[in-house]
Amino acid sequence: MQNKGYKSGFAAIIGRPNVGKSTLMNAMVGDKVAIVSEKAQTTRDRIMGVLSGDGYQAVFLDTPGIHTPRSSLGHSMMKSVESALTDTEIIIFLVDCSDFREADEKLLEQYREYKKASKILVINKIDKVGREKLAALLARLAFFPADEVIPLSAKTGDGLDILKSAIKSLLPEGPKYFPEDYITDKPERFLIAELIREKALLNLRDEIPHGIGVEIMAIDKAKTGVVHIEATLYCEKESHKSIIIGKSGSMIGRIGAAARIDIERLLGSRANLKLWVKVVPDWRNRASELRNLGYLDD
Ligand code: GDP
Ligand code: MG
Repeated sequence: MQNKGYKSGFAAIIGRPNVGKSTLMNAMVGDKVAIVSEKAQTTRDRIMGVLSGDGYQAVFLDTPGIHTPRSSLGHSMMKSVESALTDTEIIIFLVDCSDFREADEKLLEQYREYKKASKILVINKIDKVGREKLAALLARLAFFPADEVIPLSAKTGDGLDILKSAIKSLLPEGPKYFPEDYITDKPERFLIAELIREKALLNLRDEIPHGIGVEIMAIDKAKTGVVHIEATLYCEKESHKSIIIGKSGSMIGRIGAAARIDIERLLGSRANLKLWVKVVPDWRNRASELRNLGYLDD
């Protein structure tokens, strides 16, 4: 539905690892996040967060960190960054003012003449540095022809409103892409649970009446970059549990392997997935269980 004067578009957040891209996206979409697997909507496969504000909607792409590709994995990650920039109305360049490096400067140099999108230069983590250091960095960044330069703290929220107004003013008129009611404050958690549930249903076909629920027990990012995930699959009966586990674990193994591939693509990093199966009679009707599971089953 296209309202007159309504604004919308895509915004990609780019920057080197650890500058705060994910934190910024989560802070901006907050409890208004509508997280959807891009696969379902478009051809891309990155996380999106949707910010639905007053009269506008910005769809965020959280890209893996820009870095010098060394491995072929690095190359494919850079490809996904490039594809995130195609058809994007706004590019948000994110730098960390407490740790500004040559790589950041190179990235900005590279996009200096880029004209296919509006450019917002966001200087993050201002809670970590004093005024003088910030002023010095601003001077150093003056060469970059950004439409807006916004210092902020994704962590404390300081300056976020300014970024939101800048985004709104730079967006073109456009349709409301997503309904405003896909609300979750745990986008990755929710999406990972949905991926596991999808693979379970795919592999089990219609063998489990009333379906299954998935709860993410833990998501831990190891220093090595591997993300460890533990999830519990809920079903109603012991007989269902045996089917889900399969002969010497073959079924749960297949579900886990398929889910892991998609989860790795979603997170842009390697993942370790541990699945448990638990019988909770009538899990569908238990309000608290459902709340913990993060969704109401259809
Ligand atoms: P990404 O790799 O660019 O997605 O970075 P993350 O969002 O994962 O953030 C990397 C680290 O920086 C995390 O430990 C965040 O908590 C931290 N961080 C992000 N934004 C801020 C900020 O504004 N201030 C401070 N002090 N830390 C931040
Ligand atoms: Mg990130």
